[in-house]
Amino acid sequence: MSENDNLRWLDHLPVGWAQLYRDLLSDLAAAGITVCVDEVKEKFGSLRVHLEPRVSEARPYIGAAEERSKVTCQRCGEPGEMLMRNRIVATLCPAHGDGFSKPERPPVVTIYMKPGNISDE
Ligand SMILES: [Zn+2]
Repeated sequence: MSENDNLRWLDHLPVGWAQLYRDLLSDLAAAGITVCVDEVKEKFGSLRVHLEPRVSEARPYIGAAEERSKVTCQRCGEPGEMLMRNRIVATLCPAHGDGFSKPERPPVVTIYMKPGNISDE
């Protein structure tokens, strides 16, 4: 896997986070960590990066990039914050956050589990 294969995920990312993702890949390369990105996406207003196979050494770098995405406008890359509109969560700067409002609390994901009905999918 080459770095170019990982860069193809730029097409799947909000444009404001393209630099953030490029920085992550170059930081990993600089640290001598080779990764194969399995998926990159925006979820609940933050960047998610999945590697296949998983590389534990890459985890702190990915965690830092995910944290940075939470304060980076996903449209333009300027400083932003997590905002909501119609239950859609996005990280936006004041200019792009027009029409959005601050969530009263961080979005919460609730998982319901029924006993006796657990499968691996
Ligand atoms: Zn913006």
